[in-house]
Amino acid sequence: MPIRRLSGEDLRMSKIEELKCVQCGRTYAPGAAMTCSDCGLEGILEVRYGPDARFSAADLAGRPRDLWRYRELLPVELSASGSTGGGLVPPDLQVGWTPVYDAVHLAEYLGMRRLWVKDDGRNPTASFKDRASAIAVLAARQAGATTVACASTGNAASSLAGFAAATGLAAIIFVPERAPEPKVAQLTMFGARVLKVQDNYDRTWDLCQQACGEFGWYNRNAAVNPYLVEGKKTAGLEIAEQLGEDLPDWIAVSVGDGCTIAGIWKGLVEMHRLGLAPRLPRLLGVQAEGARAVADAFARGEDLVVGGDDTVADSIAVGHPRNWRRAVRAVRESGGAFVCVSDEEILDAMRHLARKAAVFAEPAAAASLAGLGRALRDGVLSPRDTALAMVTGNGLKDTKSAIRAAGGPTAIAPRLEAVAEALGTAGHQA
Ligand SMILES: *Cc1c(COP(=O)(O)O)cnc(C)c1O
Repeated sequence: MPIRRLSGEDLRMSKIEELKCVQCGRTYAPGAAMTCSDCGLEGILEVRYGPDARFSAADLAGRPRDLWRYRELLPVELSASGSTGGGLVPPDLQVGWTPVYDAVHLAEYLGMRRLWVKDDGRNPTASFKDRASAIAVLAARQAGATTVACASTGNAASSLAGFAAATGLAAIIFVPERAPEPKVAQLTMFGARVLKVQDNYDRTWDLCQQACGEFGWYNRNAAVNPYLVEGKKTAGLEIAEQLGEDLPDWIAVSVGDGCTIAGIWKGLVEMHRLGLAPRLPRLLGVQAEGARAVADAFARGEDLVVGGDDTVADSIAVGHPRNWRRAVRAVRESGGAFVCVSDEEILDAMRHLARKAAVFAEPAAAASLAGLGRALRDGVLSPRDTALAMVTGNGLKDTKSAIRAAGGPTAIAPRLEAVAEALGTAGHQA
């Protein structure tokens, strides 16, 4: 296996003005550090672009409908299409520009004025994480790496494995014991080396971190690698562009480590700064009752206390969130709120998303909708508000939970009477 140690000089990202520590504010030249050398892993770096990094509505019109349309505000140097000059060519996969549905029946059911659902389960490996992995593999190539690694509750892993396959990089993936089988199947299918750690996500994360330090692999862990939030922010850029004047009052996002919600906020703020978003929505951060460390830190206004990781929503089963500071800051800046939902509410939301909007979501992805329901009941949201629920992963990734939510089929003998008997419609014509 090719192993190479990376130095700061390997990274050259010209559009980027500086990297700024979210904890102490110290700034670094692009490529000079992964995390703040004063603050360690608490010191996640935020990418800041120079004043020339911008696009207009006219620039965007006519560009391909994927996340590369925002290239001026992405941390990688893309080659001009068709040119043989410098820059990187992204893998030919449709990532980003996922559909936003006007979910009228779901809105009616919840008693809301208007509700949109953005289905990020439609990405190449069926989760939101593809936005980050698309950037990760190019940033890795830009840094001269040949091997990428990450620790993941499942989706970041299957996503990285897919994008590594499309880019010709080797992938080494650390997953916790409880990762659902379909996600692990994606990993091995994409050809990754998969290490299933006999412990929880937090221990798995620590081990991957150590291994990247030891073996010099390119680290895709979103809380550590400053460039990945830049991929995640494209969902915020898209929401502003896709909804325009209709930009909702609230955007609901499920929260595990906190990178997703922080990224979406960064995208919204950048669109607003460019004059491409009429206003800024409030963020509703949604956690599971059994894994609520970020929501608790937000409520107390204090530093994070590591908590439990017990929820059906494996993708947000995080006891020690790594990007909590940015998540809390994003929700606070937006004038938003956090809510926590029970596993029952999550399973209920999965059913309603499927039955009222035909969107099949994994538990963590339906948690955003469950959060909207909870926020309405608690009076955090008014029925007159409009909202968008981010659906971050496809339901086929965790069929066990889907069957738990929806029940199984009725087994019958291959006889006509059995049909009538099972449906309780003997003699009745539809
Ligand atoms: C990773 C993930 C989240 C949460 O993202 P964080 O950055 O960990 O907060 C939510 N839903 C799904 C489906 C995910 O895979």
